[in-house]
Parts: sequence; C-alpha cells; structure tokens
Amino acid sequence: MASRPSGTPRRWWYSIAVLGPVVASLAVTVAATLAFVLWTAQGIDQRSLDRQIALARHVIALQLDRIPHDQQSATIWDDAVTHTKLSFDQTWISSNLGVWMHDFFGHDEAIVVDDRNRPIYDMADGKDTDIAHAEAQMPDLMPLLSDLRRRIAGGALDQYEARTRATPPSVSDLATIGGIPSLVSLTPIVSDTGAIKQSRGSEFVHISIVHLGTAYAERIADEYFIPEASFTQYGRFGADDAMLPLTNSSGRFITFFNWQLQRPGSEMLRQTLPALAIAFLIACAIATGLLCQLWRKSRALEAGRAEAEHQARHDPLTHLPNRPHFESAVARALVHLPGRDHRTTVLMLDLDRFKQVNDTLGHQAGDDLIEAVGQRLRQLIGPTEMVARLGGDEFAILTGAAGLTEPLQLSQRIIEAVGKPFDIFGSEAFVGVSIGIAAADGHEADARELIRKADIALYEAKTTGRNRAVVFEESMNELLQNRHAIEAELREALRRTDQISVDFQPLFDAGQLRIVGAEALARWRHPRLGQVSPAHFIPVAEQSGLISVLGEQVLRRACQMGADWPGKVIAVNISPVQLRDAQFAGRVFALLSETGMRPADLELEITEGILLEDASIASEAIRVFRSAGIRIALDDFGTGYSSLNYLKRYPVDRIKIDRSFVSQLSPGSVSIAIVQAMTTLAHALKIEVTAEGVETREQLDVLTSLGCNIFQGFLLSPPVAPAALEDLFRHAETAPQSRVA
Ligand code: C2E
Ligand code: MG
Ligand code: MG
Repeated sequence: MASRPSGTPRRWWYSIAVLGPVVASLAVTVAATLAFVLWTAQGIDQRSLDRQIALARHVIALQLDRIPHDQQSATIWDDAVTHTKLSFDQTWISSNLGVWMHDFFGHDEAIVVDDRNRPIYDMADGKDTDIAHAEAQMPDLMPLLSDLRRRIAGGALDQYEARTRATPPSVSDLATIGGIPSLVSLTPIVSDTGAIKQSRGSEFVHISIVHLGTAYAERIADEYFIPEASFTQYGRFGADDAMLPLTNSSGRFITFFNWQLQRPGSEMLRQTLPALAIAFLIACAIATGLLCQLWRKSRALEAGRAEAEHQARHDPLTHLPNRPHFESAVARALVHLPGRDHRTTVLMLDLDRFKQVNDTLGHQAGDDLIEAVGQRLRQLIGPTEMVARLGGDEFAILTGAAGLTEPLQLSQRIIEAVGKPFDIFGSEAFVGVSIGIAAADGHEADARELIRKADIALYEAKTTGRNRAVVFEESMNELLQNRHAIEAELREALRRTDQISVDFQPLFDAGQLRIVGAEALARWRHPRLGQVSPAHFIPVAEQSGLISVLGEQVLRRACQMGADWPGKVIAVNISPVQLRDAQFAGRVFALLSETGMRPADLELEITEGILLEDASIASEAIRVFRSAGIRIALDDFGTGYSSLNYLKRYPVDRIKIDRSFVSQLSPGSVSIAIVQAMTTLAHALKIEVTAEGVETREQLDVLTSLGCNIFQGFLLSPPVAPAALEDLFRHAETAPQSRVA
C-alpha cells in the first residue's frame, strides 16, 4: 500500500485511449476516401456507358434517316419516272439510281422494282448486277415493300402531291437481306414537278441497302469517334467491349453493334491512382510521425500527470502517502471492512523530542531524521498496511487486525525501532515515539472519526509519559468532548469528599532501596467514567481556575501525611498556575503550620514550563520556599527546551529525569550518555537526581551505576492509597531491607 503504484499499464491504457481514436479515425478517413474515389469512378463509368449506348442508338437512327434522303435526291424526279416506268433506260438508271448511289452515298446495293414488285434493275457493290441476284433478295424485302405500298394506298403519296407533306413516304428499317444484316430503305419513284401523274399503286420503288459490315462500321467509327466499332452476329464479350443489340421495328434481332467500351472513371483512376497512392503513403508517413510525436507527448503528459498525482498524494520528504491520501485509504478500508476478524485500525504516531533535534542540529538534520524514521516505519509494516506522514513529526499507520494484540505488538516494535539512535551528520540523534491506537468497532464508517479517536489516544500517550502506545477508550473522548461538563463535574467533585483522593507513589534511595518518601498524585474517580487520568483533569483544572482548590486539597493531604511521618519526604506537584498565584506561598506556609509538617520534609515539583513563561515570579517564589527549607524538584527533566541552562539560572534541589529517557535505557544506548551527562552536571551543581518511571531491573542497575540518588517507578511500587503507604513506611522502619531481590 505504501509503495508507489506502477504506472506502466495505466500509461499503456492512456496511450491506447488517446491514440486509438486517432488511428481509427485516420483509417476510417482513408477507407472512406478510397471508397468514395472508387464509387465516383464507377459512377462516371456507368454514366459514360449510358451515354455511349444512347449515342450508338442515335447513330443507327441517323443512318436509317439518311438513306431515304440519299435516295430521294434521285427518286423525286420526272426523269427518274420517265427512264424507269415510261421508257426503261438501263444506262440512265445505272448512273442515276444504281452506281451513283454506291459511289456518292456508299449504298451497297440498289434495286428498282416495278409496280408489281418485280426487280427491273439491280446494282451490287458498285456494279450493275444480274436481276436474279435481286430476285433472290425479294423474299427478305417483301414485308417492307408491302408496308410501303400500304402507306401509299393509305394516302401518304396524295399528301405529298397535295404539298401537305415535304417528302413522299418511305420505309426504312433494319433487316437481314440475303443473310447480311443491313439498313434498308424503300421509296417510290415520283415526279418532282407534278407533271407526270401516276395512278396510285403503280409507282416503281427504289430500294437501297447498306450492309452492316466492316466497311460501314469503319465509316461510323471515323464519323462519330466510336472506337473499334463493328457489327457482329454473335457479339463481342470482352471486358473492354460495349454492345448494343439492334432490332428492327417489329422487334426482331438483326445484329450486334459493338465498340470499345470507354471507361473515363477507370481511366481517371488508372492515371491518378499512382499519384494517389504516393500521396496516401506520404500522408501515412506524416500521420505516423505525428502519431509518434503525439504518443511521446501523451506519454510524457501521462507521466507528468501521474507524477503530479503522486506528488499530490505523497509527502515530498519521505515519499510516504500524505494526510489526504491516508484519510481516503482509511475511508476505503472502512467501506470494505471484511468483518469482525479484520477491524480497520489506525495508529497515530508523534515523535518525542523531535523539536530538540531540530533546534539543536538544524532543520536539515530534522528532515534527515524524519526521512530515516519513515524508512524504519516502512520496514516494519506489511504489504497490506499503509504508513503515511501526516506532517511535521506526525506519522500514521493503517492496518487491519482482529483485536488489539497485533497493533500493540506493532507499536512495541515501532517504539523499539524509533528508539534506536539515528546517525545524522555523523552524530547520533535520539528520539522516541508516542502512539495512539483506535480500531473501528464495526458499524462506524467515518475515517475522520477513527483518525480523531487515534489522535485522542495519542494525546493521552503524550500526556501520560510519552514513548508509549495508548489504545483509545471512550472515556478519553468524553473528557475531550465534554470539557465544559467535565469542568462542572470536577467542581462538584472538589466540593464532595468521595471522588477526589490522593495516592502516593513511594520514592526509594539508591543505596539500599529503602523507602525515603512519596510523591502525592491526585486521583479522581468519576462516577460514570471511572478513574480519570490527571493528565486530563489537571489541564481542565488549570484552565478553569479549579487548580488552586484541587492543589490545596492535595497539598493538605500531603502535609497531613508528612506531619504523621516526619523524616519522610512528601513530594507535591505544583502547577505553574498555582505558582503564579501571589497568595500561593502564604497558603503553603499556612497548611504547614496547620498540619504541623516540617518544611524540610516537603518537596515541591515544578516543571520547566513555568520558568520559561514567568521567570521572575517563579524565581521569587522558589527563593521564598527554599529559604524556609522547602525543597524544589524540577519534574519531567529533559523534556523541555534547554533544561541544562535552567540549572544554572534557578537554584533547585533535585531534578527528576523524565521516564522517556529511563524507558530507553539499554546497554550501549545513547540515553545512557544523556542520563550520564544530566547526573554529572546535576551533581556538580550539588543537585540530587531522581529517576522516574523505573520499570525494569536493568534500568535500575544502569541508573544506579550512573549515580542517581532516588528511584521511582512501577518496578519498586505503583502509586498507592495513603493507608498502603503508611504500611510501607511502618514496614520499612521494622524491616529496612531492599524491596527488589
Ligand atoms: P509526574 O509528576 O511525572 O508523575 C509521575 C507519573 O508517572 C504518575 O502518573 C505515575 O503514576 C506515573 N508513573 C510512575 N512510575 C511509573 C512507571 O514505572 N511507569 C509508568 N509508565 N508510569 C509511571 P499520573 O498519576 O497519571 O500523573 C500524571 C501527571 O499528572 C504527573 O506526572 C503530574 O505532572 C500530574 N499530576 C498528578 N497529580 C497532580 C497534582 O496534584 N497537581 C498537579 N499540578 N499535577 C499533578
Ligand atoms: Mg511529579
Ligand atoms: Mg514526572
């Protein structure tokens, strides 16, 4: 959880997400362009084919139209009637209606038939031919001839003679004549002046035949720019061939008109395709270049984004997750709370004495220390746990555990690891850590609330001695939450006699470990919350002004005890607030005389704080007390700013070395050197040394060897009730032997 997440798969995803659409749209564009070009070319080809077919039809129709015109240049003529019908003149016919037609108009065959449809003249291929040739064609020509005769009978020639139509009737059509597909045109031979009258139906008819063969096809090809035009019986089915089946007016198939298919679209494609392909390749190369650049940029962007995200979620110094990241991780863990056997647990950590390192060795040293602490913490946690730096010297750990044993064991490991000296700029720095633990109780799902609870437990750990782990209890919360209520309850408690009491923690001398006195410690048994730590209610009392009443109650009971046991030292904790009170000294002396306690048996414990805050008042009060023989002890020595300086400025009788130093005493540790320095200096100034919080035999041995004078701690005795203390005093007088074997 604490490690930096690998960005590679995400980066790939990002690249695909960014580049995918670009590549896809490029491919679609190219495909669409290609499809469009092909479709356009095909469309152009299709339209061109339609046009070519229309042209072919038109050409054939034109040809059919033209032949009657050619004929009528010679058949509407008085001479023609004369030389055919009235006095047959072969030579005249040949040069005007036969060979002429071939030579001038290109007709392949010209036949003249009489009024009974018998051929009287035939020209084939530019030469007069035997009539038999024409007769052989007659069965093929008869339908057309009959058609023309029907028209003439229908009055078409009358209309011409009456000048209501421009030309005499004619019939022209496609037909197969003598096995050859042909254009055939029939027109009657009539007078142009109207001078020669013919009876209806007796007209001679001129027939022109144009063979749809190679020669004619070539003519059309030249004339109309139709490439490779030809007429075929069975068609030309090549890929480049266009074909039009030609039928006559009654729908019978005559022949195919073929030509070379023109595909301007395909042609255009063929010509532009290489250029298009080159352009496409260039575009592809440019696009690839752009894409590569885009990919590189997007990768850089994504890397930057991931880096920024990482920075936003991590502490720059230790690279551990920061507070927002930690909070969201806790929130996630609470949502996915797997059940009773895996409770989301938060450990809040605060370094002890970090400020001293920072102040004495400098900020760079402080940073190095924080970094080193981060590293040690990282080594202690498992892969499913998270360690975060919340800021300053505050760290936090997120873990899941069935109960409190595991978090407490982890805390112990942390305290040990952080307690080991740090090598900073070649010198050893030394800090401790206080830990607050809170576990989600299953139904709560608010990360902030869980963190707040761990914070409260941390506060408890700090105020009750440091370098320890405290598990959150609801009473701590209530105390903090209901400060006003607590104040009222404390006021009430001070009025009564059954809630506030004083316990005494025995003090032992170094030589024989004989009980030499005791420290009075205020106790409050709250009706609902049970035992409340002085660390909680003393600050409330100090802030509400109740401390003077409370302090006086404690002092009174201490003085009573002292009066009963002259020769035993009774130590009383004095709050700075009390010491600032101008009347305080007077009340102390009043109590001493009231109870009969000797001033020399009273020891007042003050903290460095008061010396710092209000030096003049404090030093005056201290001077007055000392002049009366009351001893002054500097409590929690070593935890304040520059404790050693005060020893020169303010004359005190004793220092009490804070238990955070004592708890870290192990052979070879730096704490030994520190305690050694403190005792040496104190002794040089003729100040006695008490060691607080002695919990183990080793600590006792080390402290003894260092020359401490007095010991206090759970190893020797916890705070006890007054009656129990008196038992101890009595017992010591009768059997003065060591308490620790
Ligand atoms: P302190 O004056 O340093 O008192 C010693 C504290 O250390 C006591 O906590 C005592 O129970 C605890 N202690 C003693 N031996 C050991 C040990 O071996 N291991 C551990 N872990 N702890 C040990 P307590 O009674 O909770 O008092 C806490 C603090 O509250 C005192 O620290 C003192 O500063 C303040 N206090 C207590 N009573 C009074 C009072 O009547 N007036 C004022 N102004 N402050 C008081
Ligand atoms: Mg004390
Ligand atoms: Mg103390």
